[in-house]
Amino acid sequence: MATATRTNPLSYLTEQLNDLKAKGTYFRLRVLEDEQAPECTFDGKRVINLASNNYLGLTTHPKLREAALEATRKYGVGSGAVRTIAGTMKIHMELEQKIARFKNAEACVVFQSGFAANAGTVSAVLGKDDFIISDQLNHASIIDGARLSRAKILVFEHKNMADAEAKLAGIADQAGQKLLISDGVFSMDGDIGPLPALCDLAEKYSAIMMVDDAHASGVLGRNGRGTIDHFNVHGRVDIQVGTLSKAIGALGGYVCGSRDLIEFLYHRARPFLFSTSHPPSVAATCIAAFEVLENEPERIEKLWENTRFWKNELALLGFDIGGKSTPASETPITPIIIGDGKLTMEFSRELFKEGVLGTGITFPTVPEGKARIRTMMTATHTRDELERALEVLQKVGRNMGILS
Ligand SMILES: *Cc1c(COP(=O)(O)O)cnc(C)c1O
Repeated sequence: MATATRTNPLSYLTEQLNDLKAKGTYFRLRVLEDEQAPECTFDGKRVINLASNNYLGLTTHPKLREAALEATRKYGVGSGAVRTIAGTMKIHMELEQKIARFKNAEACVVFQSGFAANAGTVSAVLGKDDFIISDQLNHASIIDGARLSRAKILVFEHKNMADAEAKLAGIADQAGQKLLISDGVFSMDGDIGPLPALCDLAEKYSAIMMVDDAHASGVLGRNGRGTIDHFNVHGRVDIQVGTLSKAIGALGGYVCGSRDLIEFLYHRARPFLFSTSHPPSVAATCIAAFEVLENEPERIEKLWENTRFWKNELALLGFDIGGKSTPASETPITPIIIGDGKLTMEFSRELFKEGVLGTGITFPTVPEGKARIRTMMTATHTRDELERALEVLQKVGRNMGILS
């Protein structure tokens, strides 16, 4: 048959991209040419990096690097199968035990990413007759997990406990399971979830309590044990999720909880059952990272010292760093709220030209009119780097009329 010329069936995607270009929120990926570090090279340009989640500088820690290399030499580069078939290596089990001990939990299961941990867990523990009561600003992976579960989704206003209680009370006489879920630290605003009040509600309404500590692991609590430790609500959170991709410096996600919860996820969580496990190098890297958390608490102290300095200086310059029309950050995530999406992306591009990487974040990742540059502190930024970044922010901010 002659191939007839046909119209491109994907042309509607090109139209949507053109829309983004017209709105000014289209972006190209910035490509990192060396290590993920406070000062590094993106697209051939040396910049101060204010955009990574590498809170403790572990992406380049010599002990983690060595652990990965040694595991590769000993065990090869891949696990060869999903966990339930032939892809459970001893090093995977060691990592799960290490995390469970660290988190003071009975057991732990590791997933390929934090996204897979959330989506896989929520969709496995709930079904169509159940309910999920979820903070409005919870992470996309929780939302996707909720949708996959086919449970009824009740969204409460951000950190509004009266609203959460109203939602729980409204379904109190329904038969299904109830899952109350919150981020430990909210990823776009940097504020902390109200865990003690959430635990009270979960207990009052017999709901399962789940916390996603992606941005709290390695940051909050003793040695970075997360918000459960920060608030001392040990034993009151049934499902604790964490990531290995942010402060831990590698890749992966995990769930901690009771032995039976973990056994159940081994049997029913779809990313666990249907997607290959980590290469041994990743598991080894993460084991080494938890050792660093235990042995080098000064990294976390330095992270918080830099965070205090950074927030203070940004506020002195006159930037809106949240707390007025958006939640106030309490963590190393510090948004510079600009408002308009197009202006935000222009600001980000101008900063880059001047040697600062600050990623613009616009709708739909944050609400319309709340576009921002999200800055992230790490333990490894030097005072000199921060001061240079502040100078650039001030200069570009003034030139663009963002600062008066
Ligand atoms: C980053 C993030 C995740 C996803 O973690 P990955 O390991 O990067 O997949 C999940 N939840 C929250 C709140 C996050 O910020």
